[in-house]
Amino acid sequence: QSKPQARVDGSTGVSFGDVAGIEDAVEELQELVRYLKNPELFDKMGIKPPHGVLLEGPPGCGKTLVAKAIAGEAGVPFYQMAGSEFVEVLVGVGSARIRDLFKRAKVNKPSVIFIDEIDALATRRQGIYNKSTNYLYNAATQERETTLNQLLIELDGFDTGKGVIFIGATNRMDLLDPALLRPGRFDRKIRIRAPNAKGRLDILKVHARKVKMSPTVDLSSYALNLPGWTGAKLAQLLQEAALVAVRRGHESILQSDMDDAVDRLTVGPKRVGIELG
Ligand code: ATP
Repeated sequence: QSKPQARVDGSTGVSFGDVAGIEDAVEELQELVRYLKNPELFDKMGIKPPHGVLLEGPPGCGKTLVAKAIAGEAGVPFYQMAGSEFVEVLVGVGSARIRDLFKRAKVNKPSVIFIDEIDALATRRQGIYNKSTNYLYNAATQERETTLNQLLIELDGFDTGKGVIFIGATNRMDLLDPALLRPGRFDRKIRIRAPNAKGRLDILKVHARKVKMSPTVDLSSYALNLPGWTGAKLAQLLQEAALVAVRRGHESILQSDMDDAVDRLTVGPKRVGIELG
């Protein structure tokens, strides 16, 4: 009944070295790593343990990546689910999944729980008790509320469940139910911004380490000329460039491979036509 379960990474293997362009966020998140590595020290020192963090920002800019890096840096298990996986029509299924998720994370603490698209399960409740708004209070609404309430209960009980960090991510902060944002539930709200030109260059450098890039390629020109490109799109660019290079029999990615990859990701593959062989 409690399927699907969270995907668990023993340790994610991701580190802060894999994340670029959002240094201010990473700086703030270091404290969570210190905590996860030694929760007892925080306890001994009388420091209130951090428990909830909300990451907010546009898609593809590294929210999931940075959450994984926290677990990876601390070497603790990472329990990941998407908000949409809690949305069910049958009343009680979503809340059972929440209970199950927190229970498993607590057994294996210290650990990190990550819920992506948290807005899907924590949408602002609107006018439920106001009949004049004509708001339909149906089974799906009831289920969603039960699930959200269960999440709030788990977050409120966190002081006793020391050693577990809860991270939620959203690109629609405006949709979140205010109850979730009340003090004590998330101690930190951190904005994960789209990268600027320097950030884009740093992201390209991180991903260039994973492919075979010719030293003649000037990554900074791409960083400058691709405004609005997210980390996800830049990572995709280097993968695409590597594919183009292989098709052309190049031993490493050349500037021309990069240019074609940019074109393919900008206008789509059909119009560019890559010569094979
Ligand atoms: P979504 O809201 O769509 O879930 P997200 O913000 O969680 O997006 P990620 O899933 O973390 O984005 O990013 C997808 C991939 O893009 C990452 O696995 C990574 O390869 C690359 N990427 C995104 N942002 C960064 C970044 N700041 N530094 C390095 N790589 C990045």
